[in-house]
Amino acid sequence: MKALVFHRPKHVSVDQVNDPRIEHPRDAIVRVTLTAICGSDLHIYNGLIPQVRPMVLGHEFMGIVEEVGPQITNLKRGDRVIVPFPIACGDCFFCKAHLPPHCERSNREHYGPEGGLLREKGGALFGYTDLYGGYDGGQAELVRIPYADVGPRKVPDELTDEQALFLTDILPTGWTAVDQAHLQGGETVAVFGCGPVGLMAMKAAWIKGAGRVIGIDVEDYRVEMARSATGAEVIHARRDDPVKAIRAMTDGRGADVCIDAVGMEARRSLWKKLANVVHGQLGSTEALETCFSAVRRGGMVSIVGVYGMPYDNFPVGQIFDKGLRLWAGQALAQNYVDELMALIVAGKIRTDDIITHRMPLSDAAIGYDLFNKKKDNCVKVVLTP
Ligand code: NAD
Ligand code: ZN
Ligand code: ZN
Repeated sequence: MKALVFHRPKHVSVDQVNDPRIEHPRDAIVRVTLTAICGSDLHIYNGLIPQVRPMVLGHEFMGIVEEVGPQITNLKRGDRVIVPFPIACGDCFFCKAHLPPHCERSNREHYGPEGGLLREKGGALFGYTDLYGGYDGGQAELVRIPYADVGPRKVPDELTDEQALFLTDILPTGWTAVDQAHLQGGETVAVFGCGPVGLMAMKAAWIKGAGRVIGIDVEDYRVEMARSATGAEVIHARRDDPVKAIRAMTDGRGADVCIDAVGMEARRSLWKKLANVVHGQLGSTEALETCFSAVRRGGMVSIVGVYGMPYDNFPVGQIFDKGLRLWAGQALAQNYVDELMALIVAGKIRTDDIITHRMPLSDAAIGYDLFNKKKDNCVKVVLTP
C-alpha cells in the first residue's frame, strides 16, 4: 500500500510499504477514506519529538472496516468508522479510570511486559513515534487498529467524512481542554493558538457556557479564522501584548481560564535554538508562560499543546502565588467522542469549516510543508488515499 513515511526531520514521503495484517484477535484493519495532518505531527516533522526508524505517521483518520480479528464482534467488514487517536485496551487500571491515553497495555509491546519503567510510560498513540508505542499511523491506505472493540465508533450515514473526521482528535482535544476547567457559566476563556485545536477549544467553550471567548495567535489569517469561525474576540500577540490586552478586557483581573493550544514551537533563529540547548529545552514555551501571566488569581490553566521536555524557569512561584489550577495532557478522546458525535449530528457544532486544503494522499509531503510553514493561509489539510 501507499503511506506517508517519516524518514528524518523535514523528510517525509509517500512510499510503497507492506500492507498491515491482523496480528491479534482484537485487531481490525481499516481502509482509510480520509485523514488529516495535525499540529502534533509537526513536532515529529520538526524533530522536536524524536523518531529514529522510518515510520508511517497519522493519528487523525477514518475509513471502512476491511477485516476484523476473531474476537471483534462490534464491527464488521463495510462499517464506516472514526478511530480516536489514543490506543487503549479498555480494561486496565487507567482505562477503567477513564484515562485512555494512559492505558498501561497499549505501549507494552514496545517497552516489555513488566517492570518499573512501564508504569512511567503512557499509552500508545497511532503513528506517533516509538515513544508512544511504535504503531503505524493512518496517513495510509490501510491501518491496523489494535483493541478494535474499544476505540472505533460507527459514523451515521447522514454525516460526511469531513463532518466526522475531527472526532478522532482535534474536537475531543479542544473539548477536553475546556471540560477540565469545569465551567459554571459566564467565564472568560482565553485560548492561546488559533490553529485547529484552539479553534475547536473556542467552539467547545461557547457550548460549555463561557461568557466570553478570546482567541490569541501570532498569524493574521489564523486570528481572522478564529473571529469568523467561532465568533471569539481576538488578540494578535505580536501587535498587542496579550497579557495587558486580556487584563484590560477583564477589569484588570485576567481570564478565568487560559488554554494553551500552542505547545512547543520550533525556534527559527539559531540563537534561540542555542539558548534552548543551554536550558535543556526543546522549542519555545512562550505561549504557556503567557497563559500563567494572563490567567486571573485562582484561575485555571489547561494545557493541550504538546510539550516534550522539562524546561527551566517553570513558574512554580507564580502558580503558587496566584493559587492556580493546572491540567495538561493528551485528550481523553474516548470519553467524549459519543457525546460529540451526537452534537455534530444535531447541528450544534461544526468542525469541517476549518479545512483549508484538500489533497490526495500522494501529495502529503506538500501538505506537511504548507501546514508547517503556514503557507497559503493553511489551517487544516485533509488527505484522501
Ligand atoms: P498548529 O501548529 O496549527 O497551531 C498552533 C498555533 O499556535 C498556530 O496558529 C501558531 O501560529 C500559534 N502560536 C504560535 N506561537 C504562539 C504564541 N506565542 N501565542 C499564541 N499563538 C501562538 O497546531 P494544532 O493542530 O492546532 O495543535 C496545537 C497544539 O495542540 C500542538 O502542540 C499539538 O501538538 C497539540 N495537540 C495536542 C493534543 C492533545 O491530545 N493534547 C491533540 C492534538 C494536538
Ligand atoms: Zn492530532
Ligand atoms: Zn488500558
